Amino acid sequence: MSEPRRDSKWWGWGDPAIEPELDAEAVAVLSERIGELTPSPRAEELEAFELPDPRPLPAALTEAAGPDGVFASTEDRVRHAAGRGYADLTRLRSGRLAAAPDAVLLPADAGGVQRLLAACAAEGVAVVPFGGGTSVVGGIEPLRGSHERLVSLDLARLRDVEVDRCSLTARLGAGLRGPEAESALSSRGVTLGHFPQSFEYATIGGFAATRSAGQASSGYGRFDELVEAIRLIAPAGDLRTLETPHTAAGPSLRELVVGSEGVFGVIPEVTVRVRPAPQARRYEGWMAESFEAGAEIVRALAQGPGLPEVIRVSDEEETQVSLALSGLHGIAGRLFEGYLGLRRRREGSLIVVGFEGGEESVARGRALAVRELRRGGAAYLGQSAGRSWERARFEGPYLRDTLMGMGALVETLETSHTWSRLGALKKAVGTAIRDALAAQGTPGIVLCHLSHAYADGASLYFTFIAAARHGAEIAQWDAVKRAASEAIVASGGTITHHHAVGRDHAPYMEAEVGQTGLDVLRAVKERLDPTGIMNPGKLLTPS
Ligand SMILES: Cc1cc2nc3c(=O)[nH]c(=O)nc-3n(C[C@H](O)[C@H](O)[C@H](O)COP(=O)(O)OP(=O)(O)OC[C@H]3O[C@@H](n4cnc5c(N)ncnc54)[C@H](O)[C@@H]3O)c2cc1C
Repeated sequence: MSEPRRDSKWWGWGDPAIEPELDAEAVAVLSERIGELTPSPRAEELEAFELPDPRPLPAALTEAAGPDGVFASTEDRVRHAAGRGYADLTRLRSGRLAAAPDAVLLPADAGGVQRLLAACAAEGVAVVPFGGGTSVVGGIEPLRGSHERLVSLDLARLRDVEVDRCSLTARLGAGLRGPEAESALSSRGVTLGHFPQSFEYATIGGFAATRSAGQASSGYGRFDELVEAIRLIAPAGDLRTLETPHTAAGPSLRELVVGSEGVFGVIPEVTVRVRPAPQARRYEGWMAESFEAGAEIVRALAQGPGLPEVIRVSDEEETQVSLALSGLHGIAGRLFEGYLGLRRRREGSLIVVGFEGGEESVARGRALAVRELRRGGAAYLGQSAGRSWERARFEGPYLRDTLMGMGALVETLETSHTWSRLGALKKAVGTAIRDALAAQGTPGIVLCHLSHAYADGASLYFTFIAAARHGAEIAQWDAVKRAASEAIVASGGTITHHHAVGRDHAPYMEAEVGQTGLDVLRAVKERLDPTGIMNPGKLLTPS
């Protein structure tokens, strides 16, 4: 590959051929809850996109990039100028951006990364490392800091794969997208088991840089838990950790690099732990009496026999709205409702459980999980409910494009806390979002699910939908995001369980790690990146 990837919607999510429509019944359910929507058309012509003119790069940098390593077309600059959160998509849909990289650089290998960082440091050019560009927290925002020029360093060409079948580890290039990594691994009989909802476009380097968590992380582990060893190329040097299962040699440098979000340097490759590819997979649906009852079942599993690969509990509102939007209407819908009514679960909370592994371990895991599900009063919905969740697991972001076109604000955010404080956190954040939306004159719905569980607690993932305030979308979004973030901090939850910090959460880092913690991280940055060129305005420096 000698050019940046241009295979996804420049204005939205994913494959340009996929543009789902909502049926009339789903539209009715939505407008009943958030009022009538006014359609919000998007800019159609990429060629007419308004961007600030690019500033010319220093000759030393273009020389280091080589004749086929610099791209500065409108399309490439637009594609590297924004992530994929609601605010990003709103700006892209308007056909106008106030900032963009001056150019996109595409190094061929780790040596190329070293040469480019050296040239950028010497010339004072800011660098934004770019994986799949799926950040939802402003992680790839082109913020220049004190620098005049800025480049996006796209790692798409770093895609080597080396598998150690004996140790069940694999060294993976940073630029591999989720499906590319999985298909290379599956041809060697192993899997990483990392399936975030952004799986199709996000990259190995991005997963490591953001401490990503996948939909099956309860069983396979979050990405940071899968990292055995890591390499960082920083402007001031190259850092590698040993490929060993464990070390007691002081504080963990691996942990310092994982989650560093491009502010210390570039991660060119990651050595990960893999598992034998599963022989058996079984997904099923259950309905708990309430969200609290569902959460108790998950806690019992996490503190007892162990968790399945996938477990998620939607609250009552998310259950109702997802059933309405999933097209489960007509006879099938009425039968389903009748079935739930018979079991007094019509207002309940949907639980999706997925087991993956060897035949025996799946059967054993399922037997233990079923015992807790029944003990907790959940009603079995069958495998088709689980399978339809599995089939649709990557479709949500496509639907968001449809809803935005209809004139809706749709955004997600996440946090986590201990079991004893999870209920209070859910209430505080849900109330903050609802109140902030109402204060904007756009009352909306707030959906929540629990999707990553531990013996000591779990994550909460919120989705909110309301009518967009046309012409003031970003201010509306900002007010709600701020209210939710403040509620999280006041409740003692983490500002992010897996979306990372980026630009949006940077103001809350002091609450998260304290002033001394922030000083330590800034001191590390100063040592690795003395001229401050790496990803300004993210993680450690609120902009
Ligand atoms: C629809 C949707 C669903 C999502 N679902 C999930 C989910 O289920 N779980 C989850 O964890 N996240 C999710 N995300 C968030 C996002 O996909 C993750 O943060 C992902 O890990 C980012 O990977 P990326 O390759 O796209 O990185 P990018 O967006 O390109 O970059 C993210 C950050 O990492 C830095 N970076 C990227 N690559 C490197 C590198 N090689 N070296 C150094 N720094 C680097 C960037 O500078 C930036 O700060 C979702 C996002 C979207 C849009």
